[in-house]
Amino acid sequence: MNFLDAKSAPSREDRLHASIAFGGTCAQVKTCERAYAAGCTNLSSRLFTMAQGCQFTLSLAILNSIRNAVLIMHGPIGCGMCSVGNIGQNKTFKQLRDPASEGLIWISTNLDESDVIGGGEKKLQEAVRYADREFRPETIIVANSCVPALIGDDIDRILADLQTETAGIIMPIHCEGFKTKLMATAYDAVYHGILKKYIRSPDRRLPLWESDTDQFRAAYRKSRNVNILNVGSMSRADEVELRRLLEGLGLHVCFIPCYAEPKDFQYALETSLNVSICGTHDDYFVGHLEEKYHIPFVVDTIPIGSINTSTWLRKIAHHFDLDKEADRLIQAEKRALDEALEPYRKTLAGKRVYIAGGEVRIVATAEIIQDLGMEVVGFKAHHYDRFVEPIFNALKDVDEVQFSVATNQPFEMSNILTKLKPDVLITHVGGNNIAAKHGLPLLPLFGPAYNYCGYSGVFEIARRLNKTIRNFEFNRQLSLNAPLPFKKEWYEQDPFSYIKYVPERKPE
Ligand code: SF4
Repeated sequence: MNFLDAKSAPSREDRLHASIAFGGTCAQVKTCERAYAAGCTNLSSRLFTMAQGCQFTLSLAILNSIRNAVLIMHGPIGCGMCSVGNIGQNKTFKQLRDPASEGLIWISTNLDESDVIGGGEKKLQEAVRYADREFRPETIIVANSCVPALIGDDIDRILADLQTETAGIIMPIHCEGFKTKLMATAYDAVYHGILKKYIRSPDRRLPLWESDTDQFRAAYRKSRNVNILNVGSMSRADEVELRRLLEGLGLHVCFIPCYAEPKDFQYALETSLNVSICGTHDDYFVGHLEEKYHIPFVVDTIPIGSINTSTWLRKIAHHFDLDKEADRLIQAEKRALDEALEPYRKTLAGKRVYIAGGEVRIVATAEIIQDLGMEVVGFKAHHYDRFVEPIFNALKDVDEVQFSVATNQPFEMSNILTKLKPDVLITHVGGNNIAAKHGLPLLPLFGPAYNYCGYSGVFEIARRLNKTIRNFEFNRQLSLNAPLPFKKEWYEQDPFSYIKYVPERKPE
């Protein structure tokens, strides 16, 4: 893998043959994905689509979190304005890493009709100079939207010229929404910018010892360093839990890219192993770091659920020849967790659960559901690619469980919920409005302030599920007083009737 000579990362439709449209079972989606070199669901689409996301917006999940930065959104005023919704959270989370940290600072170039004719280059230059003069940030990030890409603004050239004038590093991010239907391409777009602008040898070595001249000590320290690639859907409590586990093995942990600052990326090369939390998020980054700097990586598991967390720990420990230490740690953690879960298993057993969200996280969450004696009745993934396959290994008997692939598409989900009638729904905070009108108890698939990862995350999910199931009066009242927006004829149809497959790849 090496795409760094290109201006921008390729779309995931092309690079990973991922897909956004499928309706069937877990067995079908896995089988047909393996049966075709390009993946049977690649290029499938819908005859009717509703509320599709855009990669510009998802790029902000990482970009908004970078500390000591000003973000310039180069486009019309509407692009990225969803950031308004997480300003407070963003500031709090930055300050959990560095109490002196500022909240999110962003500028829009506010392109209008006359800029579409005359070009947006002048506005971009003004915005960069203003950001540098007014805030003196360590970095100025420019997120490019559809309009400048369509009218041909040469942002790389403009920003290269401006770099000689500004104190901070200028990083262009090519995340124009129209280029892909796979929102997750956003992660590649952001990492493409990070790899080109932030990753370089450090000005000075990590200040772990007073004298840093000792080659042996430096080599030893590097041999114990692990980069954990955090994701925007992780909380600080998740980081604390993963750090606790890895420090229990004697490792030193560094979290990037979320809530890091540009200089943290310099130390990304002073590590023995890059560990992804989620392959969908990180494969582009770790693949390039391996190819260019020969740093090995772990990408095929996620520390959500007891089995998955143990697998994740064992893989990391194996790299450092710490297998026995990992076994001892896992045994102790599992014993304590089992004891703590016992009361919840009694109240939650037998409840039927539907899970919707990012492919890797939903399948990993199903492991917790089964661990608690509950039944998974269906999945809805934003998209499907090969990174989810190993996560299925921790599950029992899900071959006939329904699997849907849809980025948002609330009309399909509403139809599915009506037919499957789950007892509880686990889904994205932002995707809950229509789901809540079904009157179901609802647990957010992640919470920026609550623990989801590691062994303590399993306990926290069990505790919250137990609470949610006992009292969901708000959603019940919603279902009685706020009608669903779809016609009743729609609920008589197959939820997947609008999916269109490439004919020769249609799943059996
Ligand atoms: S699709 Fe294009 S115009 Fe729309 S929000 Fe995304 S980047 Fe902006």
